[in-house]
Amino acid sequence: MVISPRVPQEIHEAVIQDVRSTLRGALLEPGDDGYDAARTVWNGMIDRRPALIARCRGAADVIASVNFARDQGLLVSIRGGGHNVAGNAVCDGGLMIDLSGMKGVHVDPEARTARAEPGLLWREFDHETQAFGLATVGGTISATGIAGLTLGGGAGWLTGKYGTTCDNLLSVDVVTADGVLRRASEHEHPDLFWAMRGAGANFGVVTSLEYRLHPVGPMILGGMVVHPIDRAAEVLRFYGAFAAAQPDELTTYAAILTMPDGNMVVALVACYVGPIEGGERVLAPLKQHGPPIADMIGPMPYTALQSMLDSAFPYGRQNYWKSTYMPAIGDAAIETIIRHANAVPSPHTVVLIQDFHGAVGRVAPDAMAFGHRDVPHSLAILSNWSDPNESDRNIGWTRAFFTEMQPHAAHGVYVNELGHDEGGERVRSAYGGNFARLAAIKAQYDPTNFFRMNQNIATAP
Ligand SMILES: Cc1cc2nc3c(=O)[nH]c(=O)nc-3n(C[C@H](O)[C@H](O)[C@H](O)COP(=O)(O)OP(=O)(O)OC[C@H]3O[C@@H](n4cnc5c(N)ncnc54)[C@H](O)[C@@H]3O)c2cc1C
Repeated sequence: MVISPRVPQEIHEAVIQDVRSTLRGALLEPGDDGYDAARTVWNGMIDRRPALIARCRGAADVIASVNFARDQGLLVSIRGGGHNVAGNAVCDGGLMIDLSGMKGVHVDPEARTARAEPGLLWREFDHETQAFGLATVGGTISATGIAGLTLGGGAGWLTGKYGTTCDNLLSVDVVTADGVLRRASEHEHPDLFWAMRGAGANFGVVTSLEYRLHPVGPMILGGMVVHPIDRAAEVLRFYGAFAAAQPDELTTYAAILTMPDGNMVVALVACYVGPIEGGERVLAPLKQHGPPIADMIGPMPYTALQSMLDSAFPYGRQNYWKSTYMPAIGDAAIETIIRHANAVPSPHTVVLIQDFHGAVGRVAPDAMAFGHRDVPHSLAILSNWSDPNESDRNIGWTRAFFTEMQPHAAHGVYVNELGHDEGGERVRSAYGGNFARLAAIKAQYDPTNFFRMNQNIATAP
């Protein structure tokens, strides 16, 4: 349902002018130049119209925006990269706090840290850190925003070796609901820092993030091998055994997708972060198995791997996702996956099996809000299609597939893969045993649930 985009009548124009005059960035209203571009997010299903959009230029703009929205009783949403499938970056009828123009980043190559603003995308962040042969754990698509990914957990090409993104977060600056800018770290507001590493969108507007960096590349060994779909069962069985024994340096994914020529395939995608010769030995069984119909694994710049899959997930398509953790890639799960993949309604849809091992599991599950440390795999059904008239068919297929996977699923879900129609018990399951502590910290820092355009903790049962 589209709620009227008008500013509520009770907000006097003079009040809007007043806040506008305090901002360094623009305050957009419907009809203004740039309003439609600013409210457009990656998922083409999301078509929401904020009453106002504050295009923040720095922490002062964020503080003014939070105070204004709170005093006027406006719903707020926070936009980082705008890449989340649920579309919570944009609200109907309230104030969107748009951070997408805040793209500053300072790399300290000696200390191996970076302090970055929340409008950065991973490709922009990596561009700066790779100039020094450094990186932190980012996502697998270069167009994803650093803020939303980090604050929900974050996993990607370097996860086997260096854990989740929030494992590498050293501090954040955050404007909480009272309009105060706080530094949260292990030493300052440690309870808030604990909560922000996994459930960050619930606690305030993050204006900067400080990361630990690691030596990475610039050349790594990565790419994919491709097998025909009729060999999918034995390829996925091989992948399950291979992934169970892989070293930290290697992070892999299995994906069922349709190639541009219309043929469906199973792709095994890999990133080895370490000496290339060592990687070649480790990856030899993966390259030889089958053999594959195409082997595209080789030395490449880390930034090339980072954008290798971007074209499969363009801006603006209809997207509906379902995701779950999996304890194993067993035969019954494989049979269910292949049966549904063979009936996929859209050639753009990707069925993705992610692997978690190594550094992820060496952090205690209660060390921070992100706590799913002991599940080896997740299954993400990444449905996407172009024609909105095809929505019912694609959503129906996704839900039926997800329902049939339940006997093979582990408890819990990655919060950053939850859709717009989930929430409630699904949010609770994203935090498992950490939920009660999170709810208590939410009550302390945001007692009115001012920040609720998110996978909301306060409303989960
Ligand atoms: C194609 C694709 C590939 C992906 N691949 C990966 C992957 O490899 N690994 C992975 O871990 N995840 C992945 N994701 C999921 C990704 O982590 C989430 O979509 C993430 O929320 C995106 O962050 P964003 O800043 O771009 O999103 P936005 O839509 O801007 O924000 C997402 C949520 O975070 C909140 N938020 C954003 N910025 C701030 C801030 N500064 N302060 C407080 N709250 C904020 C928003 O309000 C919203 O609730 C992928 C998503 C897509 C669409």
